[in-house]
Amino acid sequence: MGGDDILVIGAGVAGINCALNVAGYGRKVYLVDDTPSIGGIMARLDKTFPTNDCSICIEAPQMYEVDNHPNIEILTNTDIRKVKKSNGEFKVRLVKKARYIDEEKCTGCGACVEACPVSLPDEMDGKIGGRRKLVYMPFPQAVPNVAVLDPDCRYGKMRDQGACIGDCVVDCSQCRECPIALCVKACEKEGKDAVRLWQSNKNIKLSVKSIVVAAGLSDAKPPEGLHGYGVYENVITNLEFERLMNAGGPTEGHIIRPSDSKHAKRIAWYQCAGRGLTNGVPYCSKVCCMIAAKQTIITKEHDASVETTIFYNDLKAYGKGFWDFYKKANEYGVKYVRARPYDVFENPETQNLMIRYEDLMTGELREEEVELLVLSTGLVSNDRNKRLAKTLKIKLDGQGFFKEKAPLMAPLETDVEGIYLCGGATGPIDIAESVVQATAAGMKAVLNNG
Ligand SMILES: Cc1cc2nc3c(=O)[nH]c(=O)nc-3n(C[C@H](O)[C@H](O)[C@H](O)COP(=O)(O)OP(=O)(O)OC[C@H]3O[C@@H](n4cnc5c(N)ncnc54)[C@H](O)[C@@H]3O)c2cc1C
Repeated sequence: MGGDDILVIGAGVAGINCALNVAGYGRKVYLVDDTPSIGGIMARLDKTFPTNDCSICIEAPQMYEVDNHPNIEILTNTDIRKVKKSNGEFKVRLVKKARYIDEEKCTGCGACVEACPVSLPDEMDGKIGGRRKLVYMPFPQAVPNVAVLDPDCRYGKMRDQGACIGDCVVDCSQCRECPIALCVKACEKEGKDAVRLWQSNKNIKLSVKSIVVAAGLSDAKPPEGLHGYGVYENVITNLEFERLMNAGGPTEGHIIRPSDSKHAKRIAWYQCAGRGLTNGVPYCSKVCCMIAAKQTIITKEHDASVETTIFYNDLKAYGKGFWDFYKKANEYGVKYVRARPYDVFENPETQNLMIRYEDLMTGELREEEVELLVLSTGLVSNDRNKRLAKTLKIKLDGQGFFKEKAPLMAPLETDVEGIYLCGGATGPIDIAESVVQATAAGMKAVLNNG
């Protein structure tokens, strides 16, 4: 630990690239994420526009590179609790939350996961059917490649769902071994001793020269009832669709309907879903047009006979290769309809969806029946930003993203000298731009001597 070290908060594609750059300059980097694995949203995507390269195939090698870099220390499942600047240095207090698995001893063999009797919906997959156990691997390529145990299991909240510590009356924190838990026994059978139901949180103190905030963003969750979301099973979000078409997702890449697992043959996308409504995203998220183009192209590549329609208002194709990507979608037979949708009804017999919309080119009211409806709801700031901004004493903008000091003259800088920003922490952004910002913010962090 030394005065030249750099802390990167958030280990999505931006944080990972920032850490690799800074470490390349010989500086020690602490790469912190508050979830059990690094990777961020990119690790959940199927392919990436505008090249349609496999997302995890690009990100996984970088994840392993940071994991094995002598200058980078990864701290997952870790919260930033307190930051104080004095004499040009930041004193940082962090808490590494217990994952109830010893990171040094776990080899990611999965024996504990197999032994666990309880499964529940996987947060990663939303409503499209993915499940995880109470002890689980965050995803197959997770870094660190270590299981994590749901605190609910340990605190006995899952007893009524069949958790194996069922009738035990002793709190796990009181014992140093467990004769009941199936995950503990399965781990021991593998000749290891990695499950630690009695593990507690660990305090960590660091002293760093600069901090880069790469805390990312989130997909906007549609309000209940928006175009039938939460009411009709076959209305899903574009992130849920992304998981649906992912070979590593819960349906192994089969684009099937949540209601009856039938392959969807007519699919529509609603762009800017929720825009203009009080609880919708009020701004353009920049990337949704390309996400929809990508998802329709991949759908057609899976099965060219699937009919795909994109209902849109404005088209944003601002980046390198984006216009050609839009044209590619057209060449694949994707139907673009300039329209303002206003109603969605479900046919109770077929569970197909009847979409009513105003055709903006003719002013006519029209209807279209589809088997699956995908809502492009946009990107929003992540819900932990408020707390992090308060801890770092930096500002957020009106939408909850971190505020740059002066976007034109001091981009990626904040009001606190030595704290920089990159990626989705600054606002809606694509992967390429996140990586560019990560490099720039990392460079500023290295050069900082304030
Ligand atoms: C459905 C969908 C499809 C997309 N498809 C594409 C595509 O094809 N091509 C493309 O270019 N872009 C695409 N994007 C956009 C892309 O996901 C983002 O550009 C990218 O994820 C931004 O990376 P990031 O590292 O800034 O943020 P994130 O990926 O959000 O990573 C941020 C990380 O920070 C961590 N974190 C957050 N808060 C804290 C905290 N307080 N303390 C510690 N850690 C924290 C999070 O756990 C996370 O791991 C898509 C987005 C969505 C929603």
